[in-house]
Amino acid sequence: MTFLQNMVNSSEFLSGGGEMGALIRTTDWSLTPVGSPESWPNSLKNLIRMMLDNGSPMYVAWGSEHTQFYNDAFKSILGADKHPSALGVDTKQTFNEAWRIIELIFAEVMKGKAVSYEERLLPFFRNGSREDCYFNLSFSPLREDSGKLVGVMAIFHDVTDQMSFRKYTEESEQRYRLLADTIPHMMWTSTPDGKVNYANEPCLQYTGMTSQKKYSEGWIQAVHPYDLPTVSRAWLTSMKTGKPFKEEYRIRKVDGEYRWFLGKVLPIKNKFNEILYWNGTATDIEDYKRIERELETAKENAENANATKTAFLANMSHEIRTPLGAILGFSELLKSANLVHELRDQYIETISRNGQSLTRIIDDILDLAKVEAGRLDIEHIDFPLFDLLTEVINLLAGKANQKGIYLTLTIDQNVPKNIYSDPTRLRQIFINIIGNAVKFTDMGGVDVRVKSKQQHDGTLGLTVEVSDTGRGLTEEQKNRLFVPFTQADNTTTRQFGGTGLGLALSKRLSEALGGTITIDRFEKDRGCTFIVSFVALVGKDGLDKVKTLSDCFCPSKDLPLKGLHVLFADDSPDNQFLIEHFLTINGAEVSLASDGSEAVDKALAGNYNLVLMDIQMPKMDGYQATKVLLKRGYKTPIIALTAHAMAEERERTKAVGFLGHLTKPFNFTDLLQTIVSLAVVN
Ligand code: ADP
Repeated sequence: MTFLQNMVNSSEFLSGGGEMGALIRTTDWSLTPVGSPESWPNSLKNLIRMMLDNGSPMYVAWGSEHTQFYNDAFKSILGADKHPSALGVDTKQTFNEAWRIIELIFAEVMKGKAVSYEERLLPFFRNGSREDCYFNLSFSPLREDSGKLVGVMAIFHDVTDQMSFRKYTEESEQRYRLLADTIPHMMWTSTPDGKVNYANEPCLQYTGMTSQKKYSEGWIQAVHPYDLPTVSRAWLTSMKTGKPFKEEYRIRKVDGEYRWFLGKVLPIKNKFNEILYWNGTATDIEDYKRIERELETAKENAENANATKTAFLANMSHEIRTPLGAILGFSELLKSANLVHELRDQYIETISRNGQSLTRIIDDILDLAKVEAGRLDIEHIDFPLFDLLTEVINLLAGKANQKGIYLTLTIDQNVPKNIYSDPTRLRQIFINIIGNAVKFTDMGGVDVRVKSKQQHDGTLGLTVEVSDTGRGLTEEQKNRLFVPFTQADNTTTRQFGGTGLGLALSKRLSEALGGTITIDRFEKDRGCTFIVSFVALVGKDGLDKVKTLSDCFCPSKDLPLKGLHVLFADDSPDNQFLIEHFLTINGAEVSLASDGSEAVDKALAGNYNLVLMDIQMPKMDGYQATKVLLKRGYKTPIIALTAHAMAEERERTKAVGFLGHLTKPFNFTDLLQTIVSLAVVN
C-alpha cells in the first residue's frame, strides 16, 4: 500500500489544505451529486488532497454534473463573484458566461485526452464586471478507481495582466510609429549596442531603402563619406559614455543628391541608468545650410570687393605716380644746361606722353563712374569710321613697331564710309581693345577686321574683331575680365602697368552704343580675339562705301636694340622707368628686378641677351647677385651700374666677373653702345 492510499484511508484526508481545505471539510456534501465524503472513491480523495497541497491554481470538475472543487490558489481566478459559491456546484452554473467554450474543452478531455492552451481568452464575470481574461490552461481527464473517465482537472495560470501589458506596449508602439511616420523628420531606434532596429517612413522614403532590414544594414552607406568619420566617432563616444550627441552631416537621397541634416541621438534609460535603447532623429537643414553658404559667399564677396578696392587704390596710386614720377623726373633733367638737342626733345616728348597717360587714367575713372551712375552722354553724329580707325591704328603702330610685331587693319567692302554714332566713345573703345592686343603681344602681331551687317530695323550691326597672337588667356582669367579694376592675373600690373579699368569701361561703352564686347577665341600663349560690336545708322555718305581696305603697319627694321631682351635690376623706380623707357623705344624688350635676389631669380628663369645690374640694392647687392649667378654657371653678360666713377670700383666689378661697367647718371649713347656691343644674340 502506498503512502497516499494510507492517508486517504484514514479519516484525515481532508485535514490542512488552507482555507479551501477547511471549507471542503465543513461543506455538507450529502446534498451534492458527489454525496458525503465517506462515499467518495479513493481516486477523488487522493485528487483533492493533492490539489489542496498544490500551489498552482487547480480545479476539479467531478462526475456527470461536473461538481467543482478548487484550491486556495484558484480563488483569485474566480474572484469575489464566484468564490466561495463555486464550491460543490456544477461548472455550467459557475462559468455560464464561458460555458460555450468550456463545454467544448470538457467534451474533448472526456474523450481521454489532455489538452492545453496558451493565452486563451475566456470571458469571466469577476469582481463585479465582465472581463476578457487570458489564461494558460491545461486540462487532464480524471478516472475513478475502476478506470472509468469521470471528470476533468484543470490548472489555470492567469496571464491577463501580462497580456494587457503586452497589448498596451504594442498599442503604444503602434501609436509611436504612426506618429513617427507622419512627422517630416527621420526617426529611428537602435539596440543598446547600436544596431538600428527601426526606421520611420521618412527614413525609408528619403534613402530609398524600402524595408527596415535594408535600412538597418545600409544606413551607414547613406551618410556622406566625408561626414562618416565624424558621425561614427560621435556615436561611439555616446555609446561609451551613455550621453546624447548631435552632429550635422549629409545623407544621400534616393536620387543621389546629398542634403544636410541635423542628427540627434538620445539614450533611453531605465531607473537603474541602464540604456534600454537609443532614439535618433535627423532633421533636414539643407535650406539653413544654403542660406549659411550664401551668407558666407556674400561675406566673401564683400571682403573681396574690399580687397579689390584696396588693390585698386594701390594700383591707381601706382598708375598715377608712375607718369607723375616721369613728368617730374624728366622736368628735373630738362633743367640741366648742357643737354643735347635730341635728348631735350626726347624728354619733352616723354613728359607730354606721361601727361596724356595721366589724363587718360583720370578720364577713364570719371567715365566709368558716369556709366555706373547711368549718366554717360552718348552723341550721335555723322563721321567717317574709316578715318577714326586709321587714326587709332596709326596711334598704336608706333608701339607695335617698337615691339617688332605687325598690326593690320582690314575693313570689309560693305562697311559704309560714314556712320552715325559716337566717335569719341568708339575711339576710347578701339584704343583700349587694340592697345591691349598690342600690349600683350610680343611675337607675331595683331589683325583688326571691321565688318557690317544690315539689320531688319534698318540699322547697321558693326563688329570690330581684334585678333592677336600674344600671351592669351586661360578660362579662369577670361572669366575675371570686364570687372572693373581686375586684371587677368596680378603680375600684369607689375609687368605691363594698367588699372584693369579699360575692358570694363569699353564693354559698358559698347553696351551704351547698342552692342557689347565678347571674347571669341582665347588660348594661353596663343593669343585671343576680342569682338567689339555696336549699332549705328548709315551716315550721309554712307552709300559711298570704301573699297576693301587692308593695310599693314609692319615692324621697322632699324631700331638698334630690336630683338634684344634685357634684364634691368635697380631698386629705384625712377631709374627703372627711365631706363626701361629708353631701352624700349630703342626696340629692346625689358624686364625689371628691384633687388639682387629678384634679379638672380629672373635671370635664371628667363632668356636674356644682357643683364644691367645696379650695385647698390636692398636684400642682395649687385656684387652678391652676380657672384651667385656666375657660381651657377650663368653665361649671359652682366653689366655693372655704379654711382662712382672711381678706378677701384671699376677694378672691383671686373674682379667679380662683370663684363662691363657704366656709371650714373647714364650717358645714353654709351648705354646703347655697351648693350649693342656686349649683348649675346641667340
Ligand atoms: P589694363 O589697363 O590693366 O590693361 P584692361 O581692363 O584693359 O586693363 O584689361 C584687363 C586685363 O585683361 C589686362 O590686365 C590683361 O591681363 C587682360 N587682357 C586684356 N586684353 C588682353 C589681350 N589681348 N591678351 C591678353 N590679356 C589681355
